[in-house]
Amino acid sequence: MKKLKTPFGARYGSTLRKRYAEIMKEYKKPKECPNCGKLGKIKRIKIGIWQCPKCGVKFTGAAYTISSAIGKVIKYQAIIQQPQQQKVGE
Ligand SMILES: [Zn+2]
Repeated sequence: MKKLKTPFGARYGSTLRKRYAEIMKEYKKPKECPNCGKLGKIKRIKIGIWQCPKCGVKFTGAAYTISSAIGKVIKYQAIIQQPQQQKVGE
């Protein structure tokens, strides 16, 4: 059986420990900076706020990853809604 890398030992149940291991695996992966495009250690300053140590840019993201599935949808919607808002103002 594959042993999960968690600091919890036998506590809190296997389902929660599996979820924790999955999230931490994603959290510790090298991430690509959206500004300079370098793959490396992007630091999380606070929950949802990330900073690239190379170019120093700060940006918002998800709690444990630099972007979430819902964040991508919102960003896409913001991009396609911009021209429509300009037409209303004319
Ligand atoms: Zn960067």
